[in-house]
Amino acid sequence: MQKVTLIPGDGIGPEVTEAAVKTIEAAGVDIEWDRQKAGIMAEKEQGTPLPREVLDSLRKNSIGLKGPLTTPIGSGFRSVNVALRQKLDLYVNLRPVKTFPGPVGDYEDVDLVVFRENTEGLYAGVEHKVGADAAESIKIITKKASRRIARAAFEYAEKENRDRVSIVHKANIMKLSDGLFLETCQEVADEFPDVGVDDCIVDNLCMQLVQNPEDYDVMVMPNLYGDLVSDLCAGLAGGLGVTPGANLGDEIAVFEAVHGSAPDIAGRGIANPIALMLSGVLMLKHLGEEEAAVRLETAIRELINESEVLTPDLGGEAGTDEIADAVVEKL
Ligand code: ATP
Ligand code: MG
Repeated sequence: MQKVTLIPGDGIGPEVTEAAVKTIEAAGVDIEWDRQKAGIMAEKEQGTPLPREVLDSLRKNSIGLKGPLTTPIGSGFRSVNVALRQKLDLYVNLRPVKTFPGPVGDYEDVDLVVFRENTEGLYAGVEHKVGADAAESIKIITKKASRRIARAAFEYAEKENRDRVSIVHKANIMKLSDGLFLETCQEVADEFPDVGVDDCIVDNLCMQLVQNPEDYDVMVMPNLYGDLVSDLCAGLAGGLGVTPGANLGDEIAVFEAVHGSAPDIAGRGIANPIALMLSGVLMLKHLGEEEAAVRLETAIRELINESEVLTPDLGGEAGTDEIADAVVEKL
């Protein structure tokens, strides 16, 4: 039986993970969940939001499904979520965004995949004050990290029969750092003659995505741009409540929704679990459970298309559990 590390996490995390687990099981896969505490509860009980057992469990099982983690003030972490990605060297952040037929979102043919570099850039954590009135954040771009995120994007494009990868940058201004990223991605592109390639400057891309999102396909970019552009893409297709994600390394894969812990709605039973359910779909594909993945995704898409049982973020009145039950029913 497949063992998967399950981290319910903070805020709406436990509510949406419970719902996601129910539907993943109903899709017909045998999974043994290895439940691990991280975030606020772990900080309270063990004095750290990211206990060793959590990392060990992920290393052992190679696969995890996680809810959002809140970073306790004074815990010594800038971000627990970022620390987890860095410690396990999960260098790919994959965020696919696809429009749903029917009622959700203002666009029709959005089908975008963001590959965000997950370990360096402006998230390297090299930041300091310079005297009292100035501060510096250092952006780090290396050939190694650029090459491996580019490879991941082009390999994905090849495997999924995508037409094109767009390299996203601002090399016109940051000539050395983004210049290196662009140049390295272009070198990798040469290894994939069957996949088209172009490059675009990130500010212009943002405008183009809002005006003509159907013109884009797979996109690869440094860390911070990936953070911003993937939220923008989420907004094109139903919002954070329906946008899944994955953090991938060479050996370990951790699946999580793009959204955070949503403290404003936590504990009220109204969080949309679909983002994490779709992260579960990505997980099933990763596990080679293609059939179960398609079944689960189809059930979710049908539910949204019918637009009778939806959470408030999508204009409905249903609760988290009702969404789970409705998806299970379809399965
Ligand atoms: P974090 O710092 O943990 O990333 P954040 O401040 O970026 O958190 P989110 O937690 O992602 O923010 O939430 C942003 C907004 O989107 C909030 O208003 C939240 O209620 C809403 N939201 C996020 N996820 C969901 C969801 N699954 N269902 C419904 N609303 C959500
Ligand atoms: Mg956030």
